[in-house]
Amino acid sequence: MSQTGGVVTRFAPSPTGPLHLGHALAAIESHDRARVSGGRFLLRIEDIDTGRSRPEHVAGILADLDWLGLARDGEVVFQSQRMAQYAAALDRLRAQGLLYPCFCTRADIAREVADSASAPHGADGVRYPGTCRALPRDPALLARPHAWRIDMARAVAIAGPLTWTDEIAGTIAADPLASGDVVLARKDAGTSYHLAVTVDDAAQGVTHVVRGVDLFHATPIHRLLQALLDLPVPTWRHHPLLTGPDGQRLAKRSGAPALALLRASGVDGPALADDLRAGRLPLGIGTTSP
Ligand code: GLU
Repeated sequence: MSQTGGVVTRFAPSPTGPLHLGHALAAIESHDRARVSGGRFLLRIEDIDTGRSRPEHVAGILADLDWLGLARDGEVVFQSQRMAQYAAALDRLRAQGLLYPCFCTRADIAREVADSASAPHGADGVRYPGTCRALPRDPALLARPHAWRIDMARAVAIAGPLTWTDEIAGTIAADPLASGDVVLARKDAGTSYHLAVTVDDAAQGVTHVVRGVDLFHATPIHRLLQALLDLPVPTWRHHPLLTGPDGQRLAKRSGAPALALLRASGVDGPALADDLRAGRLPLGIGTTSP
């Protein structure tokens, strides 16, 4: 799937709802990073959550990108069609003794964390307390629904010290231990965001992972997986998020309009894209954060 030479970026939305202005900025940042270098801008649909992904949202994403004037290169990649590749990566990590099945529900984890004296928190919220790590490796247990988690301490010991480079933040020592034993295959999906994004960025030959700074905390996990799976290491660029006039992140719930709505009401897409490039929000909604 990958091609050699030049900068390759991607926009990787999940088709679980309409895109809003924050997504538009992410797409513009990624598109422009490729274009400024004469590179390629790819689209990947992150639809591993088959229960929440909808074809009409895929159609909306394609229409939104066209409307914004962001031309894409290559075929659209759908994660739902790449489960065999994720399974192969999981097998490889399992063969290294780095995965264990986890039978906990969200409620189990919340209870365990609430009961423990020092509730561990990862960079992405509650850190898994490791309940299932010590279970006997009994194949009979696998008849019950389970996720697969990475034994992070063991993985970090095998991979050794790692760094990653962000075009804005500089070179950073990766600390995946801070995230704890994250899920690499969900009970319901057979993979997870972390695994799928890492496998696919490599498969698509992405050289520059451009995305919002809200995913900064995930990058040490991806950097670790690259080391464990012998994948090429891209450069990252985590851009600032859109904020409203109150300085709060402009998310759907705080009233960011869906792009489809703006499109349908006759807003000029390329002009709106230029506004976002200049840090201006249309309709007087707010400004980008520093
Ligand atoms: N699918 C993720 C999202 O919609 C983005 C993944 C990424 O850029 O790494 O938030």
